[in-house]
Amino acid sequence: MAEPCLFCEIVSGRVPARRVYEDERVLAFHDINPMAPVHVLVVPKVHISCAADDPGSEVWGAVMDGAVRVAELLGVSGGYRLVVNSGEQAGQTIPHLHVHVLAGRRFNWPPG
Ligand code: 5GP
Repeated sequence: MAEPCLFCEIVSGRVPARRVYEDERVLAFHDINPMAPVHVLVVPKVHISCAADDPGSEVWGAVMDGAVRVAELLGVSGGYRLVVNSGEQAGQTIPHLHVHVLAGRRFNWPPG
């Protein structure tokens, strides 16, 4: 049998996570291996594998609204980075669409 999707399991509550924000479309929770003092993942509640699956403007809007809300809630609206890795070559490791919200330190450009 196929492995259940980890982020679907977190959305359902079967796998625990430190939740930051939730609405009817998205869930945001702290990354288990933070790359910055603030590192939160915002995921759609529906399963979409990656950006290349063409989530559509409603899902993108909900996820981006969620990311902005997370930044407000955690007091980092003054400066944060949003990252979407789509596909293995970009570094995506969990095949459920997610936006990383990173803040609390200075970031370099271009990214590695
Ligand atoms: P990706 O590399 O796919 O863009 O990002 C996946 C992220 O999920 C990584 O930053 C990784 O640390 C995080 N992650 C992996 N497993 C878990 C988990 O079980 N719980 C939480 N909260 N984050 C996880």
